[in-house]
This record gives sequence, C-alpha cells and structure tokens, in this order.
Amino acid sequence: MSKKILIIGGGVAGLSAGIYAAMNGFNTEIIEMHDVAGGQCTAWDRKGYRFDYCLHWLVGTSQGVFHEIWKETNVMNSETEIIDHEIHSCIIDKEGKEFIIYSNIDRWEKYLTELAPEDKESIQKMCTDMRKSALLEPFAAPPELRNPIEYIKILPQMLPVFNVIRKFGKMTCKEYFEKLNFKSERIKTIFFGMYGNRNFSALAFIFMLGWFHQKNAGYIKGGSYPLAQRMVEKFIKLGGTLSFKKKVEKIIVENNVAKGVLLTNGTKIHADYVISAADGYSTIFNMLDSKYISKEIDFAYKNWELFTPIVQVSFGINKVILSNSPIIIYLPKEKLIGKTTLENGYSIMNYSFDTTMAPEGKTTIILRYESPWKLWENMDAKAYKTEKLQIQKDATAHLEKAYPGISEFIEVIDVATPKTDVRYTGVKDGAYEGFMPSKDNMMKSLKMRLPNLQHFYMAGQWLFPGGGLPPSAQSGKWAVQLICKKEKQLFVFKK
Ligand SMILES: Cc1cc2nc3c(=O)[nH]c(=O)nc-3n(C[C@H](O)[C@H](O)[C@H](O)COP(=O)(O)OP(=O)(O)OC[C@H]3O[C@@H](n4cnc5c(N)ncnc54)[C@H](O)[C@@H]3O)c2cc1C
Repeated sequence: MSKKILIIGGGVAGLSAGIYAAMNGFNTEIIEMHDVAGGQCTAWDRKGYRFDYCLHWLVGTSQGVFHEIWKETNVMNSETEIIDHEIHSCIIDKEGKEFIIYSNIDRWEKYLTELAPEDKESIQKMCTDMRKSALLEPFAAPPELRNPIEYIKILPQMLPVFNVIRKFGKMTCKEYFEKLNFKSERIKTIFFGMYGNRNFSALAFIFMLGWFHQKNAGYIKGGSYPLAQRMVEKFIKLGGTLSFKKKVEKIIVENNVAKGVLLTNGTKIHADYVISAADGYSTIFNMLDSKYISKEIDFAYKNWELFTPIVQVSFGINKVILSNSPIIIYLPKEKLIGKTTLENGYSIMNYSFDTTMAPEGKTTIILRYESPWKLWENMDAKAYKTEKLQIQKDATAHLEKAYPGISEFIEVIDVATPKTDVRYTGVKDGAYEGFMPSKDNMMKSLKMRLPNLQHFYMAGQWLFPGGGLPPSAQSGKWAVQLICKKEKQLFVFKK
C-alpha cells in the first residue's frame, strides 16, 4: 500500500505539493476549507463579469526553473496564451501628470533620459542594475538537497547578480533612490511617492523590472481562476483526492511525529506525512499549539512586517473601454476612500486586454488600495456594511475622474475587503502575500521543516518574504522531493 500524504490547503502551494505527491505514487489528499481551490489565486463571477484577485504577472512564463514547474503542474500547456504588456504601469501624480514604466528597460531608459536629461547617469546605473538582475536563476532543488556542484554551476552566470545583491540587498527603495541621487523633481516625486514611505526592499523593485525586461513575467490569458483549475485538473487526473469545506483545526502529533489532522467537525484523518500549505501563522501557532518554533520563526513572526491588505472594488461596465496601460496608479491629492487614508494612492486595472473577463461589448475594471488591518479587525457588522457603501461611493467618484461619464454604464459594483480575504483563505491579518520584502528579510527564507517535528513540512508563501505564485508552487514541489528522499525513493516530476 502506498503511503499517505495529507496536504492542508488547496492554494497554489497545496495544489503543487498534491500534483508532485500524486506523480510520485503517494496516496494524496488535499483538505481545503473553502468550496473552491486556488486560495489567494482566485476570481469570482458577477452577472457575466469576472473579477480577478491575483494574477498580474507570473515569473517563469518563458524560461527557467519556475517555467518548468508551470509546465509540470499544467499551469502552462500548449493552449495557454501569454500576454506580455509593453507598458508595465502608468502613474498619475498629484498634478495629474502621466509617468510611464515600460516593461522593456531599454525603452524605459530612453523615456527617462528624455524626461530628465540631468539624471542620465543615475538612470543608466539603475537600468544596468535591472538588466543584471534578470540573470538571476533560482535554485531548482530545496536547500537540503543541493550539492556544491549546483552552486558552482550557476556561479559564473550569477556573478553580476551577486554584485547587485551585495550592493542593494540591505537597502530600502528610499535608500536606493537617495543613493542614485536623482535631481529631477518629477522623477523624485514619482519614485518617492510610490515607494518612499515604506520599508520596501530595493532588490524587490530591481528584480521585478528585470523579469519584465526578460519577458519572463507575463500574464496568462484567463487569469487566476483557470490557472488554479488547470492545477486541480492535473491533480485529479493523477488520482489525488481534493476535499472541500473541511477545515483543519489541529495537526495530530504523537512522539513528535505528525500523524494526521483533526478537522473542526471532529473527524480525524490519519496520514504518514503532513504538509501544511495553509496560512503560516495558523499552522505554527494554532494547529501545532506553538510547540515547534525555532528562533528564526519566532523572530520572523514577531518582527517582519506583513503586506498591508487591500480593498478591491470591482466594476462591471456595460461598454467597451480601452486603456494603453493595464494598470494606472494614481497618487491623488485627496486622501480618503471610506475610512482609509491613501498612503500609496490607488490603482485602476482595466481588463480590456483579456477578453475572457467580461461579456462582449463590456469591460471589467478594478480599483484597489491598501487598507491597514487594524481598521478592519474589530469592525462590527453594522459599521462594515456602512463602510462598504461609502467605499462604493468614493471609488465610483475616482473611477468617474479617470473615465468621465462612466458612471451611467456601471452594471455591477463588488467590494472585497481585507475581511473577505481572511474569511475565505484564513490569511493572517489579510496579508495577501505574507511577509513584505524589506531590507531586513530580502533573500532570507524560513525552513520547510520545524524543529523536532518529524514527517511534517511547511509549504507556501509564508516561507519566502515577498510571497508570490512561483515560490509557493516551488515549495510544494520541494516538500515532496524531501519526502521522496526520506522514503529513499527516486523523485519523478513528469507524468
Ligand atoms: C491582490 C493580489 C495580487 C497578487 N498578484 C500576484 C501576481 O501578480 N503574481 C504572483 O506571483 N503572485 C501574486 N499574488 C500572490 C499570490 O497569490 C500568493 O502568494 C499565492 O497564491 C499564495 O499561495 P499559497 O498556496 O501559499 O497560499 P494561499 O493562496 O493563501 O492558500 C492557502 C490555502 O489554504 C486554505 N486553508 C487555510 N487554512 C486552512 C485550514 N485550517 N484548513 C483547510 N484549509 C485551509 C485556504 O483556504 C487557501 O486555499 C497576489 C495576491 C493577491 C491577493
């Protein structure tokens, strides 16, 4: 009889772990508390419109280690269509002036130099850092299974990247921009306006644009929901079991060996191995009663900043409205939507580039802004209802400014708050991508195994500051590689 692997959580990490476990012949079950798989990688339908929550860019759409994972897990197949946007985003500053970030660094460098010839040298330096960062090739194997040859093999290609990491790994964006010493007020206003007032890592900013330049961070037509469904299909085809509407309350441990899980309905499910791909905090501090905590875990959960949650206001527009830029970020003078002070403005995503998001002749548009968890955590039902109505009103007014006359074509408005995310996925404090990548944790990660606990592995976004789909999916694969090693079984990754 094959051994049983039980996976908590059917997000992208859990689905990936499930696929590789089933591929390797394990009896595999994923327990998901929601009635749909995907976790943060999700979308919902209202009156024929689709409102996507997650996918803007997927590192690995054209090459590299992540690309192989996307093919192995059916995220990408011969039918998936990749869209590489020419414009990464467009920013509208307080004066209403437009500033463009091009996906291609050469084009962006030219644009910036024309805009601020006095900053030619600084612009060149920044763009060179970005080009170098595109050479980063993530490791294929989990840390425990890497041999020195793997390090030696990638060294020559990675030398220029190591230099970027060494120079800027411990800098915030603000410090990086200060070091570049831009003189142009326009560039300073935009860069500091976007990233200046938070502890956001300079490397995260540099790498992001490097991947776009490489055309290795595209958007998959159809977005988040079909992406997760393709993974579900693959998992089921390989013989895995996916159980919905079941919530894990505790991980059963005997003599420091994980033996299965206890569900909130009282059912016990036994397993030879448990992988938790659910929220990191709930797993470690609740499901395992804080009994298996390393110094690193304790430090990270006490000190590392979380992503500020978001409010998403989705609009179904009964009209075709096109946009040159997939995302427009507004840094407005007026500072409030509902009760939230807009520290970093708000963004408007026009999905006209993806015809699957709205019925023919119509458009889906999504407005988003950051809203701190403390504003939501103790809000009672009445205040919540009132706040959602106010958000609808304020967001509509902002949309009207962006697209004058649009209000009369609005067919649907849907407001999803940080509370919505917590309710459906259990994510801590609505921190939809886990730990924010800062100068303190960039390039750090948490271990997949907990101290003194056998037959148990963590997977998912909470292991890697910055989160995101690629490391989440990769950690699912890694967990199964480690189990195969323990079982002295050859790991296979294609079926
Ligand atoms: C607005 C937004 C935009 C994003 N944009 C991008 C992007 O463009 N590119 C990118 O790469 N990433 C993006 N991300 C991040 C990405 O979606 C996440 O990092 C990734 O999906 C995390 O996957 P995960 O499986 O680790 O966790 P999750 O998606 O949180 O999955 C955890 C799963 O566990 C389940 N669960 C939790 N507790 C229990 C329990 N007790 N019992 C049973 N089940 C449980 C949850 O229901 C959930 O399904 C974005 C996220 C958001 C929200």
